[in-house]
Amino acid sequence: MERSTIIVAGGRGKRMGTAIPKQFLLLNGKPLLCWTIDAFHVFDGKMEIVLVLPEEQIPIWKSLCIGHGYLTPHQIVAGGAERYHSVRNGLAAVHGEGIVAVHDGVRPLVSTALIARCFDAAQEYGNATPVVPVKPSVRELTPSGSRSIDRNGFRLVQTPQCFRTEVLRKAFELPYDPSFTDEASLIERAGSIVHLVEGDEVNIKITDQVDMRIAEALLDRAPGTTA
Ligand code: C5P
Repeated sequence: MERSTIIVAGGRGKRMGTAIPKQFLLLNGKPLLCWTIDAFHVFDGKMEIVLVLPEEQIPIWKSLCIGHGYLTPHQIVAGGAERYHSVRNGLAAVHGEGIVAVHDGVRPLVSTALIARCFDAAQEYGNATPVVPVKPSVRELTPSGSRSIDRNGFRLVQTPQCFRTEVLRKAFELPYDPSFTDEASLIERAGSIVHLVEGDEVNIKITDQVDMRIAEALLDRAPGTTA
């Protein structure tokens, strides 16, 4: 199976509240994005990896790589206005025709086992999206207050989301719509049935300083591995 991965870090997330973009913050001494790229490189050392960054962050990333002696091969592509445009730019740079993964740059704790599960399921079903159960109780806001809803009927969506490359290319013929918050919603609109696979609670999305502390603690517990 020919594999490629698009790592999206094209957003200008402001929730971290730091001057440095969150994907460049050091996680146990190494820029966060290096952990993410390395997880995919360790899974398949021959795999094409495309990193999508906001155009103005590309020179910063290049100097960080030099400063940290970071040599894992990857292509760099400029992002777009929304995630949809960033992934589309990344996909245009992908040469392979097998299975393509799209992964959030800010999920550095993705395990080899989860990456394998998603690629394998996409090979079998055409696409794969990892999900985890909802742990807290959930309430829906209503005009008169709120009401309890059954959390068992919901799942939280993660990445990597994997697709047969031609399925994702075809889906990107659809014009941008704000409801495309991930690629699963895009292929669904294009007519595919989204195939869910078991995600991993450790595969957190780093959004703020608390997540950063959690990620550091998780890495400390398993030195040298994200599995
Ligand atoms: O907006 P949200 O935090 O859900 O973004 C999820 C992912 O999409 C992040 O990895 C972010 O960098 C990426 N993104 C992007 N291009 C944008 C907006 C978001 O690559 N224009």
